[in-house]
Amino acid sequence: MANNNSSSNPTLAAYKKAVELLGMKLNIAKALEMPDRELTVEVPFKMDNGDVNSVVGYRVQHNNTRGPFKGGIRYHQHVDIEEVRALATLMTWKTSLVDIPYGGGKGGIAIDPSNYSKNELERISRKFFRAIDPIVGPNVDIPAPDVNTNAQVMSWFMDEYSQRHGYTPAIVTGKPVELGGSLGREEATGRGTAIITKEAADKWNIDLNKSEVVIQGFGNVGSYAAKFLNEYGCKIIAVSDVSGGLYDPNGLDINNLFDHNKKHRTIDGFGGGKKITNEELLALKCDFLIPAALGSAINSSNVNSINCKVIVEAANGPVTGEAADKLWKRKIAIIPDILTNAGGVTVSYFEWVQNLQQFKWTKQDVNKKLQEKMINAFNEVYAVKIEKKVPMRIASFMVAIDRVQQSYILREG
Ligand code: NAD
Repeated sequence: MANNNSSSNPTLAAYKKAVELLGMKLNIAKALEMPDRELTVEVPFKMDNGDVNSVVGYRVQHNNTRGPFKGGIRYHQHVDIEEVRALATLMTWKTSLVDIPYGGGKGGIAIDPSNYSKNELERISRKFFRAIDPIVGPNVDIPAPDVNTNAQVMSWFMDEYSQRHGYTPAIVTGKPVELGGSLGREEATGRGTAIITKEAADKWNIDLNKSEVVIQGFGNVGSYAAKFLNEYGCKIIAVSDVSGGLYDPNGLDINNLFDHNKKHRTIDGFGGGKKITNEELLALKCDFLIPAALGSAINSSNVNSINCKVIVEAANGPVTGEAADKLWKRKIAIIPDILTNAGGVTVSYFEWVQNLQQFKWTKQDVNKKLQEKMINAFNEVYAVKIEKKVPMRIASFMVAIDRVQQSYILREG
């Protein structure tokens, strides 16, 4: 469920502060806060036993001033219209911040996918996509994977859309490479996180080669962030997943841990490191703490134990608003989610461009262009942070909102 209380919802609080600092006209601020369109659909489908069942799905299109709506579709029992709306809004600011020609959207189906067979999930996915067909399109709204959806679900979406409209790979991103997915997409969010951490090291005068890094979450984002930061010369002293954490003050063997995790889908059972809890992990003394698992992982109950120089938010919303205020007073910097984890949507954009051109880029091309986008965004945000003496989160929202505002005025004014 989305949290609409601005004291604990860091996105809403940052939006309000940024609007105030930009001196935005209230009518424009209000217009940009409101979603353009919200669709709720009933999705009937046949169960494996022949019974007919139905579930509820959503697609929220927040803003398309700068380009087509863009954002993932998640399958989770807690999905509701408020959560989807909040996530769609965040996508508008994220795509603007990294300056890719998109707006923001998000979708979801309120199901626990573990309760359904693969065949049932395919029927649900195809029926959902048929239900939202009137409002999506390669120049209108381009979905992507999110929590509990993946390249297979995107393949069903693309197939369903292409059956009606002709071959259209650009209708979704996050597809398998065989169906027009981009090289480098799988690791893009972790790579972007590592690039942003490197830039932060430079600005916060931390020697990357001597730095100690702690990462919560060793899934797609956390494991790739660990791998690339390890390649940059950082010492990864602790990582964790849902099974608990591993700690080695001399640095974990990240390459072997990465392979172990790929094979077993967990860090549990890995030979190296001492076992610690997730709470102990968050309290470790380090240079960079990278929460890459859950929302609200750092909150009023554990914020006083945080002992790092910089928090790099790889997950969405891992630091609550109250915790962020306390950390600001303690001079612990936070590099916000909309900047840190924007690598994923950036390479999704590259995938879409390749699909529209029907031309495949090399992995080197993708990585080079990703690096440019991430560094440009970081530098823009950092310049505003210094000029306005505000936290990186507020500076990120100022850059993102101002860019949307300028396009909005040009189009509507
Ligand atoms: P994932 O499912 O691949 O991995 C999640 C990891 O978090 C797993 O290692 C899991 O064991 C761990 N985890 C779950 N509960 C935990 C707990 N209570 N304590 C510690 N660890 C726990 O997910 P992901 O794709 O790596 O996404 C991680 C975060 O990054 C999410 O917040 C997601 O919304 C955000 N994000 C992901 C992408 C992307 O491209 N994958 C893009 C933007 C944002």
